[in-house]
Amino acid sequence: MYTLQLYDTLSRKEQPLLPSDGKSIRMYTCGPTVYDFAHIGNFRTYLFEDLLRRTLELFGSSVCQVLNLTDVDDKTIRGALQRGVPLEVYTTEYKKAFFDDLRTLRIEQAEYYPEATAYIADMIEMVRLLIEKRHAYVHSDGSVYFSLKTAIEYGKLSHLDLETLKSGASGRISGDEYEKEGVGDFVLWKAYEPGRDGPVYWESPWGKGRPGWHLECSVMAKKLLGDTIDLHAGGVDLIFPHHENEIAQSEGCTEKPFSLHWAHAEHLLVDHKKMSKSLGNFYTLRDLLSKQYPPSAIRYFLLSTHYRTQLNFTFQGLDAAWTSVKRIRDVAARLPHESSQQQPPTPFGTAIAEFHSLFCAALARDLNISEALCALFEGIRLINHHLDSGMVSSAEQLFAAYFIQTADRILDVIRPDEEAIPEEVAALLQERLAARKNKEWARSDGLRAKIKTLGYCVEDTPEGQKVTKGVPCQEAK
Ligand code: AMP
Ligand code: ZN
Repeated sequence: MYTLQLYDTLSRKEQPLLPSDGKSIRMYTCGPTVYDFAHIGNFRTYLFEDLLRRTLELFGSSVCQVLNLTDVDDKTIRGALQRGVPLEVYTTEYKKAFFDDLRTLRIEQAEYYPEATAYIADMIEMVRLLIEKRHAYVHSDGSVYFSLKTAIEYGKLSHLDLETLKSGASGRISGDEYEKEGVGDFVLWKAYEPGRDGPVYWESPWGKGRPGWHLECSVMAKKLLGDTIDLHAGGVDLIFPHHENEIAQSEGCTEKPFSLHWAHAEHLLVDHKKMSKSLGNFYTLRDLLSKQYPPSAIRYFLLSTHYRTQLNFTFQGLDAAWTSVKRIRDVAARLPHESSQQQPPTPFGTAIAEFHSLFCAALARDLNISEALCALFEGIRLINHHLDSGMVSSAEQLFAAYFIQTADRILDVIRPDEEAIPEEVAALLQERLAARKNKEWARSDGLRAKIKTLGYCVEDTPEGQKVTKGVPCQEAK
């Protein structure tokens, strides 16, 4: 059996990742702010977390993962106000889009997808505790700040020299933004401003307001996974200040270590600059699907470079990824669907067993996907060669299938891609979702019928509307 050795940002060493409670690895992964469609840079990070999760599962661990949704912040509020709709209506559209994209990219489901707005009472409670423990103070405008000088270990994750921030030497600078005790002090509870926030606020002991972004993650991690978690992950841009601030809040509140390990994925770049909304150099998944790139090629492209290496996005890279996916599919098509772990006592059996071990051992070394893929493709070459010879026993075929299927438990590219849903159908589904929310059943049925005339069938499942192409479906609601 293998144990994953993962590079830990905190200790700057590879460390074995094991469940500290002896049961499951409790991991918290920072999710999207649902004010727009996520871009494929964001999905590089979620795919790194998918690789991590699948590797742990392949090695026999059970995982309990939280991926949060930030559904209240400046950007979501601004978007809702500009569109003239309630915050919830605005964010629901992007939440749904996010889940659709996760499914399209075959990112395994997390155990929990908490939404920040569902945990406001717990957030108020953590702020109250931090004030009580003198880690936080109330500002004259009703905001609450974390006092950095009380966080003795602040900076331990980012390894930055933060002495000036901690000392608060340049604090009490006049003006709104810096009327705090230390310039690095960060907001836990943001006081309400009618012009900025419109109808979005919650009552608290400090007046109307809303939680700060860093606080959300500390609270949801504690609530769903406990005081000390095994792993916290995200993109490298989150190390400072987001994760550093999470540590300060959580450890200030519980006086226990917040997370035993930290893992961070490097960025996806475009022309050697970080892909980001603010630079405008981004592609959403939808952009690439509309250019007819199969989701499996996008998945493979984003997965196949080591997570701690920057990856430059190019269309040639996507084409190369598609070629690799087809090679894996081709060999799978030459092998039986069934498989067997029984190693045949032949040179071919021994060679495949070695490739299998190399594949797993590479993943165990800090998710070294490049070496794992080398082992896979060398194995594929050998299998093809052996199949061409026509001298393959059925035991050998079953064992080769086991090797390829093991690799695909990680890669998940052999299943055929689903066709992208045409925009017209997607718009009707969106309309039907709204109709059902308003309990307009007749309208919902009418929309289902219209969708059917376009060759798609909709079914209502506990996870929402499920749409399938060309399959006869029940007419029931
Ligand atoms: P955000 O919605 O900006 O908070 O980002 C959500 C997740 O995507 C975080 O874990 C970020 O670190 C990550 N992320 C943002 N931009 C990129 C990028 N260009 N490449 C990889 N990950 C990214
Ligand atoms: Zn977070």
